[in-house]
Amino acid sequence: MKITGQTKNLGVIGWPIAHSLSPIIQNAAIEAADLDYAYMAFPVDPEDLPAAVSGLQACHFRGYNVTIPHKQNIMGDLDEIDEDAEIIGAVNTVVIDPDYLMTGYNTDATGFLMGLEDKSFSPRGKHVVILGAGGAAHAVIWGLVKRGVASITLAVRNTEKAEKVVEHFSPHVDEMKLDVIGWANPAYPIALSAADLLVNTTPLGMLPKLDGMAPVDWEALKPDALVYDVIYTPAETRLLREAKEHGHRIQNGETMLVGQGAASFELWTGVKPDLEVMRTALRQALDERNAKRPLAAFCIS
Ligand code: NAP
Repeated sequence: MKITGQTKNLGVIGWPIAHSLSPIIQNAAIEAADLDYAYMAFPVDPEDLPAAVSGLQACHFRGYNVTIPHKQNIMGDLDEIDEDAEIIGAVNTVVIDPDYLMTGYNTDATGFLMGLEDKSFSPRGKHVVILGAGGAAHAVIWGLVKRGVASITLAVRNTEKAEKVVEHFSPHVDEMKLDVIGWANPAYPIALSAADLLVNTTPLGMLPKLDGMAPVDWEALKPDALVYDVIYTPAETRLLREAKEHGHRIQNGETMLVGQGAASFELWTGVKPDLEVMRTALRQALDERNAKRPLAAFCIS
């Protein structure tokens, strides 16, 4: 990659940001596509967010990714918000057009759906149980609603918070069933017995707490249900290991991570990146990180 005065700038903002894998994944894709772009990570303290947004705009950045803790707060600083980002309630990608107009997008739902396509799972008419109801769950819910699932049950430890998520999505779900169940509720195994897809969106099982797992009654879950964990460190969480032992097909969060990055890349460049190149760069980076510091590989995007 040769950086010149004409190279177009891309990046990611977050706080902290040093562990972000996005520069590795995105620069690998840029190089493979032979494009004149460069992608860097920028630590932005929450109190400096409006200044950083103006600065990136003033410097004619083509766009950037947005990660924790700025995904919601940045929405008020942008000119336009795409419909998916508006409904999900968070922005992970900003595109700056030549007239300085800044538009916020969210590509997490697209990334999540790519993980399903990867396993030839078609969501239409299916019943889904989602573990957790936080930021990742918002993108998962919206991806599934857009693809026409029949029902989604949010299985959670805190039903009060999850009820607010149901309220948030209620104007967008039409006839589809979206409800909440506590893990201790006897109806939880009944929901599992109807599910075609079980998705974990909690951080339980993520490095360094490898033993973590939401309660799942494996005897109740349909044998042909796909089990999808959005976590990617480790590549196989306890949930996925147990699912495999019980004969289920599994998917981890790597394709979602690569997929959301690929969708951002296409928004900035108009070019579809090589997913295999991005996936290989991610795997290599995770392997190197795990080899060096086994307990430090848990930063997202
Ligand atoms: P978040 O907004 O904090 O939401 C976490 C959810 O999990 C909440 O519903 C929370 O419940 C629940 N939870 C947290 N700790 C729990 C515990 N000890 N026991 C039971 N429930 C617990 O986090 P997020 O941004 O959605 O991220 C969640 C996970 O998704 C992380 O591991 C992250 O790395 C992963 N992720 C992956 C991708 C990808 O591209 N693959 C993208 C985004 C996120 P309460 O409401 O009760 O606190």
